[in-house]
Amino acid sequence: MKSHLARIVTMCVVIAVFAGADMYALQGSARDFDAEIRTAVQAAKTAAGVEFLGTLSRLCLLPQSSTEDTGDNVPEFVSKPSSAPARETWYADPARVFDNLYFVGGKIHSAWALTTSDGIILIDTIFPYNSEELIVGGLQKLGLDPKNIKYVLISHAHSDHIGGAEMLQTRYGARVVMGAADWDLVAKYPNRYKTMAPKRDIVARDGMKITLGETAVTIWATPGHTPGTLSYTFTVFDRGRPVNVAYSGGTAFNFPNRTPDPGIRNFQTYIDSQRHMAAQAAATGATVILSNHSEFDNAFNKNRMLAGRGNSPNPYELGSNWVQRYFQVMQNCARAAQIGLERDLAKANK
Ligand SMILES: [Zn+2]
Repeated sequence: MKSHLARIVTMCVVIAVFAGADMYALQGSARDFDAEIRTAVQAAKTAAGVEFLGTLSRLCLLPQSSTEDTGDNVPEFVSKPSSAPARETWYADPARVFDNLYFVGGKIHSAWALTTSDGIILIDTIFPYNSEELIVGGLQKLGLDPKNIKYVLISHAHSDHIGGAEMLQTRYGARVVMGAADWDLVAKYPNRYKTMAPKRDIVARDGMKITLGETAVTIWATPGHTPGTLSYTFTVFDRGRPVNVAYSGGTAFNFPNRTPDPGIRNFQTYIDSQRHMAAQAAATGATVILSNHSEFDNAFNKNRMLAGRGNSPNPYELGSNWVQRYFQVMQNCARAAQIGLERDLAKANK
């Protein structure tokens, strides 16, 4: 039984936690911000281990981009296709990763085809200049028919993920799913999304299921990277055995974050989303973490490992502990950056 004193202590802790940033802002010098940042970065490093060095580097160690694109210009790779990156910089062979999940991306950016008894659910569509060869061509190389693409899920409306969506919708009549805020981005910037803009179609909601045949992808709203960023959970099969996947849809901190307002709030949105996704990954028992960038999930390297797998475990299957550690890297790196802004705020309020 809790003593009266213990209750009071608990209450005080709760009040202190809720008072949070405001109280710290008032106290200012009472906090050792640099020590807090070091602790958060160390927690991210420990969570990353040897597996998630790309995510750790991008989020904790490298300089942040931190800008929000507000221009509406036609990208040069659209207005002048000859300026698109050379094929050898992005081409990668397609791969069958699980019984019903195929990689149809490139060296840097990923697209994934989830096959069902009723057609294909495609997740992300890379750039306009390589979606034709990597997705359409990749499916054909793997013996799949791109005409069977029934749904296209866009994790967020950046040109490295939405690039092929207009083509796939127009050519195959695929239904396109995206977060409301990212549909709004596409409508707001017609030049930026030239050749990439699908007609507004399915607006994703948190917890929505996209079902095709016997297969369902559950969508989770994870705003942060963009306001409409989506992540997913779904089940694949590895030589007949069900394996649960968590798909993390937006990673880098390229939202406004240079100043405490709105940076502290934006980082909180991002952190809350990663907590939400980590909870869904835990609830579904996800043992695989997938991303839309090879730098985060090592897809390109893992595809090469798969080729020589033999009777070994699937290199994508890391276990549920590692999946949780992935989201710890994201949260702790975001927290480290957020503390930096809290330090700036404390200085400004002195
Ligand atoms: Zn992005």
